[in-house]
Amino acid sequence: MIKEVELRKCEIAQYRNLTESTHYDEIYEYAAKLKGKKIIHLNATSSGGGVAEILNTLVPLMDCVKVNARWFYIEKNSKFFHLTKEIHNFLQGKKGDLTKEEKNFFLETNKEMAKEMQSLKPDLWILHDPQPVATQGFLSGSHKAIWRSHIDTSKTNRKVWNFLLPYLKKYDLYIFSMRRYIGEGLEYKKTRIFPPAIDPLNQKNVEMDRSSAKKIVGKFGIDTERPLISQISRFDPWKDPWGVIDAYRVAKNKFPNLQLALIGVFSLDDPQAQKIASELIKYSNKDKNIHILSNKDGVHALEVNAFQRVSDIVIQKSIKEGFGMTVTEAMWKEKPVIGGRAGGILEQIEDGVNGFLVTTVQETADRIVQLLEDENLAKRMGQKGKETVRKKYLIPRLLRDHLKLYDEILNS
Ligand code: UDP
Repeated sequence: MIKEVELRKCEIAQYRNLTESTHYDEIYEYAAKLKGKKIIHLNATSSGGGVAEILNTLVPLMDCVKVNARWFYIEKNSKFFHLTKEIHNFLQGKKGDLTKEEKNFFLETNKEMAKEMQSLKPDLWILHDPQPVATQGFLSGSHKAIWRSHIDTSKTNRKVWNFLLPYLKKYDLYIFSMRRYIGEGLEYKKTRIFPPAIDPLNQKNVEMDRSSAKKIVGKFGIDTERPLISQISRFDPWKDPWGVIDAYRVAKNKFPNLQLALIGVFSLDDPQAQKIASELIKYSNKDKNIHILSNKDGVHALEVNAFQRVSDIVIQKSIKEGFGMTVTEAMWKEKPVIGGRAGGILEQIEDGVNGFLVTTVQETADRIVQLLEDENLAKRMGQKGKETVRKKYLIPRLLRDHLKLYDEILNS
């Protein structure tokens, strides 16, 4: 039911020139204090979406500084993932409730999972998001446990939150991406706020010259000599891909040669994606300048990197957004970003300074036109965006945050 991810090799020294040097001394200090401690992360999937993206860098870097950290994910289980996607939607504010059968199935599956987890016996479990959240209630032993929520629970569905609350209360600490996500009923002093971070050296973010990026993007039928806007995001209702198409259509009145790329990903823990992608294909109404692409077409990390670099503007028109690493990734590439006024996007974009914040389709279209008309503004915003990311959202900072917390929970 759970499976281990083989950690890729990485070198912490390579990050030194990219970000504040002060993190490194702390990283080594805490890593030394964690000698002999076993730490395990568990989340729903090893690929697709922001959590896998973070763990894919964070855990190998822990390994690199000699912290005994492992990463497990939940194996394919369609019925369970259908239900957990629904729980995710409820926690982000969808109305309604789980049925009694659904609650039982969720708890039974968590109980089964806990049986497998039991034999691993780490000193510390870090369980990500709602999928494995109840397992802590079924695990015995003297280990510590942290629940790490990556979602926007600021206006959560109370009924579903209250169903999970007795299991949440079993944790020693909680990590949220923003302060206002802290749900009711949790002890405030047990909560910590860690904004996510990106890896500037992985395939998604590594430097790439413009001509290589254009070559990659061109392979997908995009004319790289014409303006391109893109949203790179899971096919998910909270990301409002329909609103992006609408905004593109309005902006097209001013820029008739505009192209739009909507890039999404199909991952095992997100069964809703297929349906939404089909709806979007219909909604695009055979417009040859709307390109709906995914990992199934061969758009993986390197291709995402190229798309973010070649796009004139990157859009993330979310209605709810835990953090929005796609915003961070685009800013790192000096792109002007138009982001929805939601969750972590509000934390990253200072409206009019390093990007634009929008709510409506018309606002989005107006900002697209403004940025396409004013190259200098686009450039300035892009540069400011990169600086924001360099200061706040690169992976060494997050590694430091985690190791410091593990030391606090295991050694104090
Ligand atoms: N992503 C990707 N391919 C896609 C869509 C998304 O690789 O087609 C990645 C994206 O680059 C980012 C992550 O998935 O690293 C999405 O993280 P974010 O925080 O924006 O949203 P989440 O999926 O966690 O809701």
